[in-house]
Amino acid sequence: MMEQLVIIGSGPAGYTAAIYAGRAQLKPILFEGFEAGGSPGGQLMTTTDVENFPGFAEGIQGPVLMQQMRQQALRWGTQVITDDVIAVDFQERPFRIATTDLIMYTHAVIVCTGATAKRLHLPGEERFWNNGISACAICDGTNPLFHNVEIAVVGGGDSAAEEALYLTKYASQVHLLVRSDRLRASKTMQSRVLNHSKIQIHWQVLPISAHGDEVLQQIQLQDQITGAISELKVNGLFYAIGHRPNTRLFEGQLALDSQGYIKTTGKSTATNIAGVWAAGDVQDHLYRQAITAAGTGCMAALEAERWLAEQANAFSFAA
Ligand SMILES: Cc1cc2nc3c(=O)[nH]c(=O)nc-3n(C[C@H](O)[C@H](O)[C@H](O)COP(=O)(O)OP(=O)(O)OC[C@H]3O[C@@H](n4cnc5c(N)ncnc54)[C@H](O)[C@@H]3O)c2cc1C
Repeated sequence: MMEQLVIIGSGPAGYTAAIYAGRAQLKPILFEGFEAGGSPGGQLMTTTDVENFPGFAEGIQGPVLMQQMRQQALRWGTQVITDDVIAVDFQERPFRIATTDLIMYTHAVIVCTGATAKRLHLPGEERFWNNGISACAICDGTNPLFHNVEIAVVGGGDSAAEEALYLTKYASQVHLLVRSDRLRASKTMQSRVLNHSKIQIHWQVLPISAHGDEVLQQIQLQDQITGAISELKVNGLFYAIGHRPNTRLFEGQLALDSQGYIKTTGKSTATNIAGVWAAGDVQDHLYRQAITAAGTGCMAALEAERWLAEQANAFSFAA
C-alpha cells in the first residue's frame, strides 16, 4: 500500500492535522492507536470538563471533544485505523510503517504520539482521579473543587513550582511535597515558591495513599528518611512529576532532546528527516495544552502539503 501522508496518533494534534490534510485532498491515513501511549483520542479521554478549549463557552467533556474531532477528520476523508504503529523506517523512501497486521508505505509522516503524564499509582488514585487528583493544574485548577481549600502538589522541578504558584490563585493553601531536600526548579522559581505566603514546602516526603468520600479529603505522607507516616488534609493532589513523551518508536531515527521529546526546527514542525513532521505534546514540554497541540497539528499538515506539492515531480502522484 502506498500513501501520501500517514498521521500517527489521535489526540488534538493528530485529528487537527488530519482535518487540514483531508481538506487539502491528501487522503490521510491516521493510526489512532490501540493501547500504546494512551488510548485512541489521547489524553483528553481521561478527563471530564475541558473549560479552556475555545469555542465551547460552557466547557465540553474531554471524550466528547475528541469524538467531535474524530468525526470532523472522517468527514474530510481521513481513513482512521484503530491500531498501534509498532515500527517505522524513515531511513529509506518511501517510508515504511508497520502494525502487527499491516505494512504501509508513505511519502510523508506526521508524528502526533503525545506524551503520558507520570502518575504515582497510589492506592485510592483511580477512585479520586478527576475528583481531587489531577496531573494538570492549568487544566483543572479553576474547578470549584479546589477553591478556598488546601491542596498539595507533588514534585520539585520547574513544573511543580509553576503549578504550585498557579494554584495559589484558587486554593487557601498549597502544600508542595518534595521528595528530596532541595528543589530542582530554577533559582527564580525557587525564590518565588519559597517566599510565597500561601505555599508550604514539605521536604523529603511522598504521598503514599489517598482517602475521602465522594471526593479527595486526605492523603498519607511518608517521610523519605525516617519512614514515618503522617496525614495531610487536602482536597486536591496535583502530580507535577513529569511527562514521558511517546517516542520510543522513533529512537535512533528522529532527533530527540535529552528528555526524549522530538526536536523540531525553529518555528516549524519539521524534524531532522525531510518528509517527517512532529506536532503536539510529543515535541512540546512547555505548553502541553490541547489548543497548542491542535495548533501544531495544523502547522504540520500545512507544511506537509507544501512539501508534497514541491516533491510532486519526484513522486508518481499529482500534487
Ligand atoms: C487528565 C488531563 C486533563 C487535561 N485537561 C486539559 C484541559 O482541560 N485543557 C487542555 O488544553 N489540555 C488538557 N490536558 C492536556 C492535553 O490533553 C494535551 O496537551 C493534549 O491531549 C496533547 O495532544 P496530542 O495530540 O499531542 O497527544 P495525546 O492527546 O497525548 O494523544 C496521543 C495519541 O497518540 C496515540 N499513540 C501513541 N503511540 C502510538 C502508536 N505507537 N501508534 C499509534 N498511535 C499512538 C495515542 O493513542 C493517542 O491517541 C489534559 C491532560 C490530562 C492528562
